[in-house]
Amino acid sequence: MKEDVTNIIAPLMVRPITRWPFFTFLGGAMFCLLASSACHLLSCHSERISYIVRRLDYTGIATLISTSFYPPVYYSFICDPFFCRLYLGFITILGVAAILFSFLAGFHQPKFRTLRASLFFGMGMSSIAPIIHKLILFWHQPEALHTTFYEVLMGILYGIGAFVYAARIPERWMPGKFDIAGHSHQLFHILVVAGAYTHYRAGLVYLEWRDQHGC
Ligand SMILES: [Zn+2]
Repeated sequence: MKEDVTNIIAPLMVRPITRWPFFTFLGGAMFCLLASSACHLLSCHSERISYIVRRLDYTGIATLISTSFYPPVYYSFICDPFFCRLYLGFITILGVAAILFSFLAGFHQPKFRTLRASLFFGMGMSSIAPIIHKLILFWHQPEALHTTFYEVLMGILYGIGAFVYAARIPERWMPGKFDIAGHSHQLFHILVVAGAYTHYRAGLVYLEWRDQHGC
């Protein structure tokens, strides 16, 4: 709440830092959840619609992961355009590659379940490089530690989500008992929303940090 208020007041008091990386992340998160909702709502319509919306779902996940890099990378390396472009370029190319990969005919077969989870997990884990780089540069600034705390928490939530999805927990232990509620896919979606919200909180800390300290 305090960060929300500060972010509303800060632009009025100081020269605000650009908001586009933060809005890119919010747009990516909204697109992911919208694509996912469309997938769950429409995939039972017909084989043709299911084919389209399942690809849309994976496009949404890749978009969420890629756009999640924009606030931390942009605001951490705002004074270092080389690393800013390097990290953002890397994750953007990786995101586009993951989307193109998901359009391959065999990608959605059940036997590739673990590969699909690993692909997104790997994309997320590549964020370790810019986060460690940020800590090396700004270890003495409380905002760097504060945002890293949120990022580690987000990583744990997404990591558990990917594991639950790949390992089919808990229905693997009691098949048929979780078809209505408590299914791994439902737990996975709850964890994704929790992870995105944690990242939103980190984004607010980045905005406050750069609004007050600039480059
Ligand atoms: Zn889903």
